[in-house]
Amino acid sequence: MKKLMIFVVGLLVGAGVLFVLLGRVPDEAPPPEIVTAEAPPAPGVPAYAIEGQLPPAPVVEPDLSDADLPLRPDAPPAGGNATAGAATPVPTAPATRLLVPVQGIKAAELSDTFDQARGEQRRHEALDIMAPKGTPVLAAADGKVVKLFQSKPGGLTVYQFDPTEQYAYYYAHLDRYADGVVEGKELKRGDLVGYVGVTGNSDPNAPHLHFALVQLTPEKQWWKGTPLNPYPLMTD
Ligand SMILES: [Zn+2]
Repeated sequence: MKKLMIFVVGLLVGAGVLFVLLGRVPDEAPPPEIVTAEAPPAPGVPAYAIEGQLPPAPVVEPDLSDADLPLRPDAPPAGGNATAGAATPVPTAPATRLLVPVQGIKAAELSDTFDQARGEQRRHEALDIMAPKGTPVLAAADGKVVKLFQSKPGGLTVYQFDPTEQYAYYYAHLDRYADGVVEGKELKRGDLVGYVGVTGNSDPNAPHLHFALVQLTPEKQWWKGTPLNPYPLMTD
């Protein structure tokens, strides 16, 4: 009888240990899965990367992209403030008139794509100038090339500061740079910058120049600023 009791107690203890063990395993196993499942989408992956993978954009000209140039990460705060008109000064357009930065295109042929939607809650905040691949891209105004940059959304890009260093001009989706265009190069309005292409997040069947004008912050960082509509400043 004693032996049976010991056996039963042993069974109970064993079952208890098993229960605890089994109870723990599921507790400890899931966390890693959840972490791995949630990790990829959120951190580090910029919005454009996700949008870039979405099925065919409903927009005719799907460069959701260009938008997400390095200018983007800071665009929300800047744009928000600009709209609210609270903390930051209202952006002011440069006094300079801008040359249509694609050879052979007249201002009258442009359409204002600045406010077009790109993705869920973003505006395009740039001008798309349609032109055949290889068409020369010209400097919209005088200014220094401050950065040649290749990005997933923008492809081959050029950032140019105006002489006052209050504004930046951004040229994206270039097929290639013009010879001699290097960082630090002073360009005059109309100088060759590069050639229209379809690099970055750009429809290969709709080559165009994505051109943006940005008012820089006092820090004058090429990737940061408040987008302004270049359309009203364009002249032939
Ligand atoms: Zn664009």
